[in-house]
Amino acid sequence: MIKMNNISKSYILNDDETPLYVLKDINLNIEEKEFTAIMGPSGSGKSTLINIISFLDRAFEGEYYFSDEDVKEFKDNDLSTMRNRNVGFVFQSFNLIETDTIYENVELPLLYRGATHRCAKPIVLEQLDKVGLLSKKDQLPSQLSGGQKQRVAIARALANKPKFIVADEPTGALDSKTSDEIMTLFQELNNLHDVTILMVTHDPEAARYCKRVVEVKDGQVIG
Ligand code: ADP
Ligand code: MG
Repeated sequence: MIKMNNISKSYILNDDETPLYVLKDINLNIEEKEFTAIMGPSGSGKSTLINIISFLDRAFEGEYYFSDEDVKEFKDNDLSTMRNRNVGFVFQSFNLIETDTIYENVELPLLYRGATHRCAKPIVLEQLDKVGLLSKKDQLPSQLSGGQKQRVAIARALANKPKFIVADEPTGALDSKTSDEIMTLFQELNNLHDVTILMVTHDPEAARYCKRVVEVKDGQVIG
């Protein structure tokens, strides 16, 4: 599904003409149904890499084919459509809308895609059921624990039936027990529902749940 050949990314910093390379010749293939962790020290380029993978950044060198489509060829509009159709995002800080109920948070991406409330309903309920939070649907995020909030974020990421989930440090704000629970949920979604998951983590305990670990150091894949 994801095929990257010799991906490099550089920034030109103010006073200096020489580009600073933060990704160097990355070759990475990810197939459907994989559950992959990207690991590496802070500043090694993990977020830069997943921003390219999730169509947030097209300013890179090299080739990126997504389901045999050349991502470089997309215009800005196509790129945001690709993102909305194909990627479900999960963040370290959950990014829920605090004034909306749990149900409304999960419904939002469906409405954004043009679904009616009525048409969205069974999908929202299905996702909340998958993450075990059906009984919390009318509550506000502030009434939930950190782990529960992350479950809502995962349900929201699943709502549009994306081709893959991208999670940048999804357990970064959680204690180790809650982190295990979230990783178990990801594992279940991958095993039972064939959800393709790509996560960034620097926690080896979290990475143990993944089927594959890609190690990044100084902008290069080292293992
Ligand atoms: P990680 O997610 O592994 O911590 P990042 O991908 O966020 O690393 O960053 C990789 C490197 O790229 C870092 O050295 C960072 O300072 C640099 N970087 C990230 N964004 C920019 C930017 N907009 N301009 C210049 N340098 C950047
Ligand atoms: Mg990062």
